[in-house]
Amino acid sequence: MNPSDIPPDAAIHETLGDPRLQTAIYTATQRLIDHRKKAVAADALPAYQDLRALAHRIKRHTIEHLDYYLELVESQVAARGGKVVFCEDANEVADFVLNLAKEKGERLIVKSKSMTTEEVHLNDRLESHQLEAVETDLGEYLLQLAHQRPYHIVAPALHMTRYDVADVLTKNLGVEREVEPEKQTKIARATLREKFLEAGIGITGANFVVAGSGAVVVVENEGNARLSSSAPRIHIAIAGIEKLIPSAKDLAVFLKLLGRSATGQPLTVYTSFLSGPRRENEPDGPKEFYLVLLDGGRTKLLADPGKRESLFCIRCGACLNHCPVYRKIGGHNYPWVYSGPIGAIITPQFHGIGKDPWLPFASSLCGACAEVCPVKIDIPKVLLKLRFEVTASGAKGPGERKAFSLWAAIMARPKLFSLFGAIAAHFAPRPKNGAWIRKLSWPMNLAPLAAWLSQRDLPPPAAQSFRSQWKSRKAAR
Ligand code: SF4
Repeated sequence: MNPSDIPPDAAIHETLGDPRLQTAIYTATQRLIDHRKKAVAADALPAYQDLRALAHRIKRHTIEHLDYYLELVESQVAARGGKVVFCEDANEVADFVLNLAKEKGERLIVKSKSMTTEEVHLNDRLESHQLEAVETDLGEYLLQLAHQRPYHIVAPALHMTRYDVADVLTKNLGVEREVEPEKQTKIARATLREKFLEAGIGITGANFVVAGSGAVVVVENEGNARLSSSAPRIHIAIAGIEKLIPSAKDLAVFLKLLGRSATGQPLTVYTSFLSGPRRENEPDGPKEFYLVLLDGGRTKLLADPGKRESLFCIRCGACLNHCPVYRKIGGHNYPWVYSGPIGAIITPQFHGIGKDPWLPFASSLCGACAEVCPVKIDIPKVLLKLRFEVTASGAKGPGERKAFSLWAAIMARPKLFSLFGAIAAHFAPRPKNGAWIRKLSWPMNLAPLAAWLSQRDLPPPAAQSFRSQWKSRKAAR
């Protein structure tokens, strides 16, 4: 069975019941949590909270004046000999790349990690037209070989152990099984080096696009983005329109926050500023440069000031690492490329609230995501707004609505609440071995409740209720 054919509930249960996978997710996210904690501690970055507030203000300003900055970046890129291509949706992005490759007679494309191209399934479209698109980020390359999508925004193969990697390399490249990460890297490098030299087009994402100068900024640790953007004859950078920031001065704020929030690094190993094609007397660089800016549902969010801040995200992944739900269910159980808390708020907004109405509810609302977000997106607030919209749309079904109306009616009447409490306590089962609630069978329309209860147990009721204990204590004083 194809993994995407497994119903979401069953797939989540599979992940929860896989101890190897649970350990891999927990270990990797904990390492990222520990590194971030040290990097943003008061003695390492005293201005951390001020930088977060400033980053939030810069993003708010840019998003509120997006029309101005989009025009500015278009003129700046053109002034440096490049071209900006605005695309409404995934098809327009794929059409642009396909037509350009056809026009220039190129068949091999190297790609460095880009969530925006994952968003539009660019590789599938290219391959369906007999173009070869090769991922060059090590994690992405492994996922491409294994036919999987990213598990995490910054660590795409976070769920793979080195033994999984050994299996993928042996099966797909026919090499001897190698479990040492350094040797595995060498194997991948040897294959990819040839591709860099042969490719006619290099595609990268963009962490930031500086509107004032037209520069695309790419941060990475492996050097593959730098090679993808400089070795081939043509460089295409593909980014969502929300990646714009006004100026290089603003960039300094984000560079201080991104690496630290993502991996705990003060700066990533490579920070490339790519602005236009190679100029006269420059020894290297592409001959042609295109910046593709994708809307893909983003302008829909601009209309709502409350949810607009979802576009401030700089894709650091910190909210995923700290989310108790992501850390249990992992990345592949989210329906789209963006997982964790940021996925739970942008997926329903980009795709429509009716498509995956359960997503805004995939959160305990503990608030850890908002606490660690470097641009201070109030994710729980957006989740609550989306929950309200899901409920108002009727997607939760009449059963749940009636149950909560009944609950509200009882809670609003203290005497009735007390009576129900006494009745429930009297009739509640008290089995010696507990766990009775997990053994009940539930009707199909209560499947979400059954799934929730299957992981819990109801303790036997106390001999005396809290209210009567309170009363007797008061009386005894
Ligand atoms: S929402 Fe915030 S914490 Fe999560 S990925 Fe985006 S910037 Fe990082």
